[in-house]
Amino acid sequence: MTTIGFIGLGIMGSPMSGHLVAAGHAVRGFDLNADSVAKLVAAGGTAAGGVADAVAGADVVITMLPDHPQVEDVVLGDGGVLELAAPGTLLVDMSTIRPETSVAVAEAAASKGIRVLDAPVSGGEAGARQASLSIMVGGEEADFAAARPLLDVVGKTVVHVGPHGAGQVVKAANQLMVGGIYALVAEAIVLLEASGVDAKAGLDVLAGGLAANRILDLKRETMIAREFAPGFRIDLHHKDMGIALAAARQADVALPVTGLIAQLIAAGRARGYGSLDHSALLKVIENLSGR
Ligand code: NAD
Repeated sequence: MTTIGFIGLGIMGSPMSGHLVAAGHAVRGFDLNADSVAKLVAAGGTAAGGVADAVAGADVVITMLPDHPQVEDVVLGDGGVLELAAPGTLLVDMSTIRPETSVAVAEAAASKGIRVLDAPVSGGEAGARQASLSIMVGGEEADFAAARPLLDVVGKTVVHVGPHGAGQVVKAANQLMVGGIYALVAEAIVLLEASGVDAKAGLDVLAGGLAANRILDLKRETMIAREFAPGFRIDLHHKDMGIALAAARQADVALPVTGLIAQLIAAGRARGYGSLDHSALLKVIENLSGR
């Protein structure tokens, strides 16, 4: 049994922490939202009153927070994880943030004897609920080996992809592909409907051909029904496209399609769809066609 401090019990952190409890670990969870903490307690975890409480006595601290400002606040800030955790503690940041923040966190942690992995995930809310996430891990091999049994509880495809920050670069590559696939599924739906073809029948057959993909499998029915409850918010995907474009600039490469997808997602946000699921890219494509 591992004692785990889990900080960030939202759409992803809630089911993930629940799986760790079910696997027999002692999980002390903290979130700014008291309802989320109550959910963990109902699942058999323990409520932490703050970061200090979550970190005290923890072998492993897991963070699943929205973006880098929250990670900087919780990890690097006054009364944060690095100030309070005992030397030897393993911090696994599973948030999607910019790679340079992951590297900065690892450097700051090393001076305190705290080990760090960046371990962002893919698979969405469904993957978190089904414990079938893909987890891309950056950091030291030995720390990956130590974290692996816990990561295997919440993930199905768990891969050490390189040094600190590498997990975040892989996640950025994931997000540009996911955004592009959503945009194209949306365009297919708009084309089919505008042509008087049944979109469900059309996508059902496409899901068995070369255009088959997970998003078509998981989301075509809710997209056709215009059900856009998150899931993964447009606001978070907008953040991730910024990370991808910044990583491209850093690597000195041109990613023109990524730029276009980023603008479509920005348009969704500007239209007020930020708190909808990213499948609401369909609304952006409809807006462009005056539909
Ligand atoms: P979310 O907003 O549902 O959850 C984040 C939680 O962090 C919230 O409950 C919030 O109250 C809490 N929080 C924020 N600041 C805090 C602080 N200072 N102290 C304690 N708690 C704090 O977001 P989510 O959808 O669970 O996403 C979390 C991360 O996972 C993001 O980086 C996101 O990009 C990534 N991600 C999300 C999905 C998805 O499908 N939702 C999939 C893969 C990766």
